[in-house]
Amino acid sequence: MLMRYKAYTLNNFKKISQLSNLSDLQIKDIEIVGQILPFKVSSYIIDELIDWTNFENDPFFILTFPQKEMIDQAQYDAVEKALFQQTEKSVLKKVVDDIRLSLNPNPSGQQFNVPEFDGKPLAGIQHKYNETMLFFPSQGQTCHAYCTFCFRWPQFSLNDFKFAMKEADLMIAYLKAHPEVTDVLFTGGDPAIMKTKFFEYYFNALIDAEIPNLKTIRIGTKSLTYWPYRFTTDEDAGALLQLFEKTIKSGISISIMAHFNHPRALETSAVQEAIKRILATGAQIRTQSPILKHINASGDLWAKMWRKQVDLGLIPYYMFIARDTGARDYFALSLDEAYHIFNDAYNKVSGICRTVRGPSMSSDPGKVHVIGITEINGEKAFVLRFIQARNPEWVNKVFFAKYNADAMWLNDLEPAFGEKEFFFIKELNTMKSSQHDLCHAEGVN
Ligand SMILES: *Cc1c(COP(=O)(O)O)cnc(C)c1O
Ligand code: SF4
Repeated sequence: MLMRYKAYTLNNFKKISQLSNLSDLQIKDIEIVGQILPFKVSSYIIDELIDWTNFENDPFFILTFPQKEMIDQAQYDAVEKALFQQTEKSVLKKVVDDIRLSLNPNPSGQQFNVPEFDGKPLAGIQHKYNETMLFFPSQGQTCHAYCTFCFRWPQFSLNDFKFAMKEADLMIAYLKAHPEVTDVLFTGGDPAIMKTKFFEYYFNALIDAEIPNLKTIRIGTKSLTYWPYRFTTDEDAGALLQLFEKTIKSGISISIMAHFNHPRALETSAVQEAIKRILATGAQIRTQSPILKHINASGDLWAKMWRKQVDLGLIPYYMFIARDTGARDYFALSLDEAYHIFNDAYNKVSGICRTVRGPSMSSDPGKVHVIGITEINGEKAFVLRFIQARNPEWVNKVFFAKYNADAMWLNDLEPAFGEKEFFFIKELNTMKSSQHDLCHAEGVN
């Protein structure tokens, strides 16, 4: 059956027939919080993922419908007043913009790390880790639906932060000048929102350029969770799969970096069909997700999710720790909690699921993996390690931080065992002062 993509936003969400399950107050909450957090939901999520008989606890409802508890009461009151009592639209906009800025839209001091090329900044490209260049196609800067936890909302709602790069030429020139880059990661937003003709434009350009160092194209996408019909019944689905085949035949492998937050997203016949078709092209699918309170804060759930993924031929890849942005207080767990949940799940699965790494913080110096909690000579400490780092020499280095039960992020931690500062700090500061820092795409997608 042909499924036509339909999205609901603040403008039309009251037409969703399942909202008859909600009270007037619950609908008003969505309207108010939806001014601040991104809100867009697809018909697939509404009709096939959310269990409306228990929507208040449903992970997909919480993932996509703004919840009152995601902002604080003062913020709620301010928006309510501006929305319902003020007539001037500009007043509401000011209230909303101020609250959004206070939610730290570019977390961890992250101005975008846009590289320079021929003396000009390369908008649309980020290059933080040697082997992998990020590419933000300008046609892929939105998503089939928005996650309420997402920190990328400046891109789709505050235009000042928008990336754009229409030309593949610059990307190719950059790849040729940087032989250390083996992977190009298409990211967004969600690049799978693009029509196949744009994928064709970019991929064909990459194939034709015959760049010897380019081994893998990755696509960071949540479409398998939010709109799996992108790979099955959308009118240009078949052409996209053919393009994958052609690209792989040309010698460039394709890896879909798929974002799944909950095992139920793997259960519909639509997603299973989409996975089958993608794998039949020879592409691989790796999976990643942040660990989130109210959504997936359980070892059993993660174990079940990884097992199900492996059953379907997917490769578990990353568990991320939620960043300090947006509705973070609502979703965040401590490093200690995240570590214990990971450990619990990891202990319940066999080696074929243990391709997953985490929990990992995509922080300024790099991806920091919380390996364990230990005690040496009476001092309790987190054992940490770089999975990825700004300086490749830091990768795989182990370091220690004083145990802190409440710590949620690297900047809440201090070195353990009498060290004055973490081993990478001096060098990081030098690096930061010598370039515009950035790093946005922490591989959430
Ligand atoms: C995670 C990430 C990558 C990809 O890292 P891999 O370890 O190769 O998966 C690339 N760039 C940025 C900025 C990232 O956060
Ligand atoms: S996490 Fe990904 S899919 Fe979700 S809103 Fe952010 S960019 Fe879009």
